[in-house]
Amino acid sequence: MSSVFHRIPNRNLPIAVKGDGMYIFDKDGKQYIDGYAGGACVSCLGHSQESVIEAVREQIGKFAFFHSAMFTSEPLEELGSILTTDAPEGLSRVFFTNSGSEAVETAIMMALQYFVEIGQPKRKKVIARRNSYHGGGLTNLSLGYQIARRAPFEEVLQSVFHISPCYEYRGRLNDETSEQYGLRVANELEQAILGLGPETVMAFVAETVTGTTNGTTPAVPGYFKRVREICDKYGVLLVLDEVFCGLGRTGTLHACEQDGVAPDFLTFAKGIAAGYQPIGATLVNQKVYDAIVAGSGTYKGGYTYAGHATACAAAIAVQKILRGPGFLDQVKVTGKLMSDRLNDRFGQHPHVGDIRGRGMMMTVELVEDRDTKAPFAASNTLSARVFQNARARGLITHALSGTVDGYIGDHVVVCPPLIATGENLDTIVGLLGEAIDAAVLEVRPKAA
Ligand code: PMP
Repeated sequence: MSSVFHRIPNRNLPIAVKGDGMYIFDKDGKQYIDGYAGGACVSCLGHSQESVIEAVREQIGKFAFFHSAMFTSEPLEELGSILTTDAPEGLSRVFFTNSGSEAVETAIMMALQYFVEIGQPKRKKVIARRNSYHGGGLTNLSLGYQIARRAPFEEVLQSVFHISPCYEYRGRLNDETSEQYGLRVANELEQAILGLGPETVMAFVAETVTGTTNGTTPAVPGYFKRVREICDKYGVLLVLDEVFCGLGRTGTLHACEQDGVAPDFLTFAKGIAAGYQPIGATLVNQKVYDAIVAGSGTYKGGYTYAGHATACAAAIAVQKILRGPGFLDQVKVTGKLMSDRLNDRFGQHPHVGDIRGRGMMMTVELVEDRDTKAPFAASNTLSARVFQNARARGLITHALSGTVDGYIGDHVVVCPPLIATGENLDTIVGLLGEAIDAAVLEVRPKAA
């Protein structure tokens, strides 16, 4: 009997003992192909990248730990320089954390402190989007909109104003173009700022491409440009959360490059050290940094283990691979291949309503009826069934419910390591097809 408080205690977890490239092996010798980068869109380089493992070994042999307020270190400085050298415009400083939740929390806390330092302490309100996820702490759950996870904590969450997501499949009206739809939902930000009082609004927070909660939904062209324009007009800071979609996953280093905008804060985690060590980071605009340095002189947040030299060493090795010759070009090619394979397999599937994503983050949204887009009833627990069926077949994937509004809808996210080959994609898509068909057959025995 386990004494560990597992997050889902009733889930029968296999014991992982070995990783090799695109595969994970459990204690019983069963092999799983990794369709979800370590089970959380983290392991972008697969499970046995020798140069990263060697970098960890070498660094841990030098020293274990010094607090980053006492000493800096060579890996910390080198990683800082790598991440800021090719950052979106204005993001010239980086603050390290241990996770994505901390990276997002850091952006919020720094934004609060920034407005205190520059004498605008009334600016405390935050606007975010429905159908979003920004991490597991109380601040993060307040920003995000994952209803089931928020529910027990609702009364103590901070008050955050939520506007519509940019979710074209369900949000665009028949007589609108994509661009018109994008402008309409971006303009909700302006209405929210005006409603709350522009002098009280501090920040707008959004995932550039959504992660699991809304199933890898990119914004339509023009959406983020309009968002940036509105933020600039009212002096509101733009926080883009790229914990999931950042650092190569979309085929470019930063997802926001493809939207043509630079935020005031940009958060990372999963792709920084590809799971070889836990680490997160928040890129910060120079004006925020300058205001804090010239003001109180100290950022008041922070975490003991942040900037751990071993984690930084792992991240440097990962970042060198991501930035190496041809790597991101290959991600674009593999992403296109993945999209083609998913469209071949599910494009005409009676229970797939939408296939979406960017680069190597794609989602298949499941529906009961393709014409009306009606989702399956939540009581069918369709996504849980897809997950179980996939795992039984040796495929690690992520299937979720609540796609439409937090309560109903199902989708499956496909985010394999960026090193996946065409053959790996064939295996992943083939097993996923079997898992979806088997799950549909369980809930609608005659229809599948
Ligand atoms: N933001 C986004 C967009 C995420 O996808 C996640 C993790 N799924 C987080 C924040 C939180 O990251 P972590 O779990 O590392 O705290």
